[in-house]
Amino acid sequence: MSTKTLSMKLAAGTNKLAKTTAPVVIAGPCSAESEEQMLQTALGLKKLQSVSIFRAGIWKPRTRPGSFQGVGTVGLEWLRTVKQETGLRTACEVANADHVAEALKHEVDILLIGAHTTVNSFLVQEIADAVKGVDIPVLVKNPVSPDLLLWIGALERFNNSGISDLGVIHRGFSTIDNAPYRNHPKWDHVAELKSQLPDLPVYCDASHIAGRRSLLRPVSQRAIDLGYDGLMVETHHNPVKALSDPHQQLMPPELDMLLQALNMQGNDPEEARSVVLQEEWRKEIEYLDDELMDLLARRTALSEKLGTNRQGNSSEAEEAWDQVLENLLLQANSFGMNKEFVKTVFQEVRKQYAQTHLYCDMGA
Ligand code: PEP
Ligand code: MN
Repeated sequence: MSTKTLSMKLAAGTNKLAKTTAPVVIAGPCSAESEEQMLQTALGLKKLQSVSIFRAGIWKPRTRPGSFQGVGTVGLEWLRTVKQETGLRTACEVANADHVAEALKHEVDILLIGAHTTVNSFLVQEIADAVKGVDIPVLVKNPVSPDLLLWIGALERFNNSGISDLGVIHRGFSTIDNAPYRNHPKWDHVAELKSQLPDLPVYCDASHIAGRRSLLRPVSQRAIDLGYDGLMVETHHNPVKALSDPHQQLMPPELDMLLQALNMQGNDPEEARSVVLQEEWRKEIEYLDDELMDLLARRTALSEKLGTNRQGNSSEAEEAWDQVLENLLLQANSFGMNKEFVKTVFQEVRKQYAQTHLYCDMGA
C-alpha cells in the first residue's frame, strides 16, 4: 500500500486524533509505580485544563536486565482508576499481543507503540493483528534509528488492520552524537514524514528528546512552531523518586508553568523551518569534517606504505602525480567545483606529506 493511500484514509476517516485548535497535551509518569503515585500525579494534571490524555508505562523496555521493568498488569487497574477519578483519557505502551489483550480488557483508550517496538516488524505485525477490528487510536513512536520507511511501514501495518485513528509520536533518534539531547530530534526527518502524510497527527514527546528538564521548553516550542498537533511530557508527582527517567519528568505545577511559558500560537513557521535546516546542515558538516579527517589519516598511512615500498625514480613519480591531478580536476569539473580550490587542496595534502616525512616525492 502506498503512503498516499494511507494519508487519504486518514483524511476520510473519523479520526478521533484529528487536528484540534489547541495542541493536545499528553502527560503522566514514565512508569506506573503505585496507585498512589498514579492518582496523585493524575489529580495534579486534572487541574491543568490543557492536559487531556494521561499516559503511564506499564511494561518498560529497559536497556539492561535488573532495571525496573514496569509493574505489569496491576498498573492497568490503576490506569482505570485514574480514568474513573479524573475523566482523563488513558494511554499506555503495548509491545506484544498479550499487552494488547490486557490493555483492551482494562479499557485503555489509546495504545502507544514504543520506539523499541517500531523497529521490529514482527512485533508491529503481531500488535496490528491483535487490534484488527478494534476501534482504538494507535500512536506510533518513531523507530530508534532515523529510518523513515520503517516508521511508515509500521503505520501501514496498522492501517491494513483497519485502524483509522492513527498518529505518530516524535521522540527523537539515536545518532552518532545526540548532544545536547537524549535523542536527537532530527526535525527535518519528521518534516519529511509530515510532507508525505500531511493529515497524520504528529505529537512531540519532548521528554524523550530532551532527556532533562532544562531542554523541555525549547524542544516543545520548536514542535509548536513547526505545527505539531500536540506534546507529550512525562510528569510525576515526585520526580526525584521516579523509578525511571527521573531527570526528565516534571511535577504537574511545573508542567503548568512550561505550558504557560510556551507561545501556543507558534512563532514564525518559516523561521522555525530555516533554523531546523541550518541545525541539520551544521551537524552534517561536522560529520563530514570527521569523515575528511578519517580519509586524510587513511590516505597518509597508505601514502607512507607506498613511499617505503616504492621502486623507481622521482620523474616517474611526478608523471604519476600529474596524471592523478588531471583526473581529480576532471572530477572537480563534473561536480561543478572550483578547479583551483581542488588543485590547491590536493597539492597541500601532498606537500604536507612530503614535509612531514622529509621524503621527496613518491607520487602518492
Ligand atoms: C516511554 O515513553 O517511557 C518510553 C520508554 O518511550 P520510548 O519508546 O520513546 O523509548
Ligand atoms: Mn520514559
